[in-house]
Amino acid sequence: MDSKLQEIREKIQSAELVLVGLGEGFQYGWGALAQDERYREIEREIGDEERYVWIVPFLQKMILRRVREDRWDRAYHALKALLADKNYFVVSLCIDDYLYGAGIDEDRLVTPCGGFRRMQCDQNCAGELYEMPEDTYEAVLQYYRGELPLTDLKEPICAKCGGKLRFNQLGVGRYAQEGYLDQWNVYTKWLQSTVNRRLCVLELGAGMNYPGIIRFPFEKMAYYNQKAFLYRVHPRLYQVGEEIVDRSSGIAENPVDFLGLLGNF
Ligand SMILES: [Zn+2]
Repeated sequence: MDSKLQEIREKIQSAELVLVGLGEGFQYGWGALAQDERYREIEREIGDEERYVWIVPFLQKMILRRVREDRWDRAYHALKALLADKNYFVVSLCIDDYLYGAGIDEDRLVTPCGGFRRMQCDQNCAGELYEMPEDTYEAVLQYYRGELPLTDLKEPICAKCGGKLRFNQLGVGRYAQEGYLDQWNVYTKWLQSTVNRRLCVLELGAGMNYPGIIRFPFEKMAYYNQKAFLYRVHPRLYQVGEEIVDRSSGIAENPVDFLGLLGNF
């Protein structure tokens, strides 16, 4: 393991460009929420009531603002250190927003599945993103603290059509791609600059949920760019194709812990 970590560090150091993909296996596991007594109580209180499910993402946002869990903190800290002074780009499928505020240059990252930073109309009626209404967030916090009854909470609505207002994440009625498309264009331009240059590709925890975003295109890069090298870290799906076996390495590890180790090394 140590020699592998050493090898990756050296590969990154000698690369002209570094591309990092954080897959669904990198998504924050909501452990802090699951262990929170009051949250469990709320889950029981809300039960299966459809009209209250909107509260959950607000509580997730609360936990993300409040808790930075060690495992993820270590990993993102390592990522920042590894990428310092490099020409890099980070693509992440995570919706936990950990990447933002981790000291990674926001011009060099894209999160195509969205997150908790902004909201949208569930049906994306106007193709616009909105700031989270702070009064709703405050009300949910008050409910969480037991200062407000559940029945006093009001779901935020779209000012244009009266539909539901939801966090801009894949999985809403009609996902507003406006949240990431500009950065995606920056990313595709950056990719063009990698052609025929020493590129180190680090794929962490990308499974088969959205293979078209990280796994498949990353393999393609390793295949077409003779100067590229791909590290694929995944507890189960770490295998690499035979056609790129000379320019890739599969590592059967938990990606979050592995990146943390890479930072220590
Ligand atoms: Zn609307």
